[in-house]
Amino acid sequence: MFEKLVIANRGEIALRILRACRQLGIKTVAVHSVCDRDLKHVRLADETVCIGPNPSNQSYLNIPALISAAEITDAQAIHPGYGFLAENADFAERVEQSGFTFIGPSAAVIRLMGNKVAAIEAMKKAGVPTVPGSDGPLGDDGEATVAIARRIGFPVIVKAAAGGGGRGMRVVHTEAALLNAIQVTKGEAKAAFGDDTVYLEKFLERPRHVEVQVLADTLGHAVHLYDRDCSMQRRHQKVLEEAPAPNIDPIARDAVLESCVTACKNLGYVGAGTFEFLYEDGQFYFIEMNTRVQVEHPVTEMVTGVDIVCEQIRVAAGLPLSITQADIAITGHAIECRINAENPTTFLPSPGTVSRYHAPGGPGVRVDSHLYSGYTVPPHYDSLIAKVITHADTRRDALKRMEIALSETLIDGIETNIPLQNRIVTDDAFVEGPMSIHYLEKKLGVQ
Ligand code: ADP
Repeated sequence: MFEKLVIANRGEIALRILRACRQLGIKTVAVHSVCDRDLKHVRLADETVCIGPNPSNQSYLNIPALISAAEITDAQAIHPGYGFLAENADFAERVEQSGFTFIGPSAAVIRLMGNKVAAIEAMKKAGVPTVPGSDGPLGDDGEATVAIARRIGFPVIVKAAAGGGGRGMRVVHTEAALLNAIQVTKGEAKAAFGDDTVYLEKFLERPRHVEVQVLADTLGHAVHLYDRDCSMQRRHQKVLEEAPAPNIDPIARDAVLESCVTACKNLGYVGAGTFEFLYEDGQFYFIEMNTRVQVEHPVTEMVTGVDIVCEQIRVAAGLPLSITQADIAITGHAIECRINAENPTTFLPSPGTVSRYHAPGGPGVRVDSHLYSGYTVPPHYDSLIAKVITHADTRRDALKRMEIALSETLIDGIETNIPLQNRIVTDDAFVEGPMSIHYLEKKLGVQ
């Protein structure tokens, strides 16, 4: 096992990684920007290194500064968390070339999964179901492209191979609009990602977002930790997640879980990862793989009892997974609400000083948060300030626990989206059953 690890992130996930390191007896190095010197994990870490000014491109995205931090503290590994450099293959490569262990899969696997066309190709080989589409990048022949779209059937979605974060996508409803939409998406993709490769997929009208958590080690073992439903989204950003995904066809589910494990083995995947699917009419359709720990990993931890971050660190150190598939079972249901420092109706960020903070508690309540009274939420980064997770025997009881937990949560001095989360967990249609990815925006009356 490593003796010392650099946490190359901030906020709640940095604290989550610190907790896992303490559990495993690993010393921690917290790196931080100037304004983040008072972050909770920075205060708790064994060593701290200021890596630069507040803008993330000068601190949390500054590869030489992060590698220097590992060098000067004599650490052996770097954990990227999520966001920032977590899915940057060049970073993973530089970390390894500098003699440190990157907590995640190989740079080659990150690169492969970062190209959606290549990722879909790899998934098909493993028997993972994909969205009907162009089966590869679109060429310059307009007539051939129209023929492909006709075969798929309108509406279709034009997607950039290098796209991410909900950008580089365009829905097309008619043949007349197709070629122009492709040109516009290509232009945007070139500007945003430096790669104008685009492909076509069938646009699914009312899917759910269902994803599968996996873990794999260097000894060829791979397991799945069942699924999560993350359909409550606004602008392709997840707002609330739950595990397991409710009301999934059991045969389709078993098949997809098994295909994800096969894909991990085929890819030589190491670490924690997530296969993201759209699910409609009892069918799964792969959309992309995330090669990192995800924000919503706690709901899976609550229902399986597996510490995903500890396993992630163990396998990066070359140790075997501490669990086999037979050990993993689902107990009850878990819900996670993402608490953001933002206005609950305009969604504008609301940074500032938290004058009073009281976390919720009681049976089946977990809070992953770096907040404390007197902490100042800086304006420079993501607005996620806390994750409230509840666990109970049934989905309804977990939702009830969430309603109570939200009512107990007191965060004074800044605005938060707690009123929005309360609206969701008490919404009759949502409580009744799973809703599609469009439900939340429709409910909010957005766009
Ligand atoms: P990104 O990498 O930008 O997150 P994804 O491929 O994961 O892009 O897609 C993000 C979201 O876009 C999905 O969660 C879904 O809401 C929507 N989406 C993507 N592909 C389709 C599709 N074929 N049909 C309908 N919606 C889609």
